[in-house]
Amino acid sequence: MSVKESLHSILSTLPQGVKLVAVSKFHPAERLMEAYEAGQRIFGESRPQEMTAKAAELPKDIEWHMIGHLQTNKVKYIAPYVAMISSVDSARLIDEIERQAARHNRVIDILLEVHVADEESKSGWEINELRQYLTTDAFKALTHIRVRGLMTIATNTDDQAVIRRDFSLIRDIFEQLKPQFNECFDTLSIGMSDDYPIALEYGSTMVRIGTAIFGAREY
Ligand SMILES: *Cc1c(COP(=O)(O)O)cnc(C)c1O
Repeated sequence: MSVKESLHSILSTLPQGVKLVAVSKFHPAERLMEAYEAGQRIFGESRPQEMTAKAAELPKDIEWHMIGHLQTNKVKYIAPYVAMISSVDSARLIDEIERQAARHNRVIDILLEVHVADEESKSGWEINELRQYLTTDAFKALTHIRVRGLMTIATNTDDQAVIRRDFSLIRDIFEQLKPQFNECFDTLSIGMSDDYPIALEYGSTMVRIGTAIFGAREY
């Protein structure tokens, strides 16, 4: 299937209101252009330098989402243009995004990445740490960050029961935290190529799909 066909077949399965982030990391700009020409405007990248190079080359109406672990010293490269940072996993990173967004006179949308998977290796806040952080004055003082919701990566397994447990947990956390935020807190980013149909059952409002659109990545 072409990029266009894959994209359209995925879009046809998404309920209204669910956003598709086309995860284009490691794919060359021409492949992204195929998706762009098929109507796609939101692209997800995991490396700041790669995203910045593609942003310079590709049409200006693309919304760039940073989805990979972001080092604080790299925030400055993407702060001028990034539409959303979906992988925000520490207070230090939040402080740096706030600082860089202020420098550019912007308010940057973020998602808090929460760790629910079995793997120790996965990044993201432990839920108790996050709850604690949200009560701090430092958090309440942020003016250049808009928290739009939560993101997680489910356990990498074929066991559907485990994936369902992860998604069910993040959905519960999302509902619990919601009252602490205003109506901008509307995004639950769950679901990748292999598990997005399950994620939709658990209330996903944003799926992040790479392989099923662009094929396998060559690292
Ligand atoms: C790479 C990546 C994806 C896309 O994964 P696919 O399996 O190719 O759909 C989604 N989310 C994050 C955070 C990623 O790093």
